[in-house]
Amino acid sequence: MTTSTMSGPAPSPLSEPAVSRGRLAALLAGWLPDQRWFAGRDHKITNLSVVAATELAPGCFHLLVRVEHRGEEGPAHYQLLLGAGTHVPPRLRGHVIGEVEGPTGDTLLVYDAVHDPRAAALLLDRVRSGGTTGNLRFESFPRTGVPSGLTPRVLDVEQSNTSIVYGDRLILKLFRRVQPGINPDLEVPTVLARHGYAKGLAPTAWFHTCAPFFATLGVVQPYLRGATDGWALARASALERGDFVTEARDLGRATAALHVALAEAFPVAPAPADHTVRLADAMTSRLRHAASLVPALRAYVPGLSSAYAEFALAGSDLPLQRIHGDLHLGQVLRAGGDWHIVDFEGEPAKPLTERRGDHSPVGDVAGMLRSFDYAAHIDGSPRPEWAEQTSAAFCGGYAEAGRFDPRRTAVVLRAHEADRAVYEVVYEAGHRPDWITVPMTAVARLSRTS
Ligand code: ADP
Ligand code: MG
Repeated sequence: MTTSTMSGPAPSPLSEPAVSRGRLAALLAGWLPDQRWFAGRDHKITNLSVVAATELAPGCFHLLVRVEHRGEEGPAHYQLLLGAGTHVPPRLRGHVIGEVEGPTGDTLLVYDAVHDPRAAALLLDRVRSGGTTGNLRFESFPRTGVPSGLTPRVLDVEQSNTSIVYGDRLILKLFRRVQPGINPDLEVPTVLARHGYAKGLAPTAWFHTCAPFFATLGVVQPYLRGATDGWALARASALERGDFVTEARDLGRATAALHVALAEAFPVAPAPADHTVRLADAMTSRLRHAASLVPALRAYVPGLSSAYAEFALAGSDLPLQRIHGDLHLGQVLRAGGDWHIVDFEGEPAKPLTERRGDHSPVGDVAGMLRSFDYAAHIDGSPRPEWAEQTSAAFCGGYAEAGRFDPRRTAVVLRAHEADRAVYEVVYEAGHRPDWITVPMTAVARLSRTS
């Protein structure tokens, strides 16, 4: 990195732990809760420490921070890319986090360097050259290669991570919340590609940290230029009271093909005899907890509990397998008349072991049906006929290409949809009260005996 961004002598505020790190930790503790990808938004940070800092170039630092905050049981780790310099160019001023004292006593501005094209280019350079820098290890598939000189831009969409697009050819996803272990968003597409799954966006490169623990930090994949995400398409269709049948049927087929590919690429286990009993118990306790947080749910506890009991007793013949784990319209991209499914990370708030575990594929189907229900609510008023038609087309497409027909697993599907809707009620109550009628309407519908 040149010093037009960071003028003056090469400052290393983070390699001077004593004073600067303490001040830096305080700055970050104030800044993190405002970040879209920070899981503890709205919660005060009670403790923050820098557990690893790697200087990628003068004034450009990769950090892992350990954070404790109210409302969270254990500590969480986050990945940051920070710049520090006596001056920052005007385009980065909106990303300044604060000031620290540099090693020579001068004042350094610290900023979020994912928005600095020089820092983003530097990161891709490291990925291309491979090897080790400090605690970081960069790897790529030699055959695919990572081109140089691509112009970076940060993707401007609501995300739980941060993605940088390079020259509309590659996309680097930086996992913000980091857990020890391999991230399924690297693992799953890599394994699928090795098994010949053609629709996947096979990773071309990635990087990880070796200390204080092993964890995947970022993945580079081909960027689908001109793709539109499923949410935008479905929303436009629902708004116009249009017909999303063809797209939904294709999406059902694509989802089923993904499940078949996952079942072939990863081991599949028959569900233990008590699987549905245990899952129904977990759903029931999640419901009780949710109802203690959101009183409006209480009226539906008996109806939903009986849906879960029915699910427990009915059992399910479906084997357990790797699934997407967080499937919704925001995770599917349509390009050239084809659907591509992205983001195999699962729900970032869940432990990695659970996300990498085996589950019923009905969970993904339920996730998509819930997403159709959201898309069908325009200005708070539902368009149930759009959602019903779209869901039916999706399930029909799934049955054509998959190993089961979701419409024949009504009891299992209902339990999974209800569990998801209950989670959504709690989320909306805390974050987007204007949207709460969407899952509440679903809870009311799903709690009624059909
Ligand atoms: P997050 O984990 O933050 O949700 P995603 O992997 O879902 O990140 O990506 C966020 C968004 O970035 C997607 O909804 C999509 O719009 C876009 N995106 C992701 N991967 C690609 C890709 N390979 N090509 C084009 N756009 C992509
Ligand atoms: Mg996503």
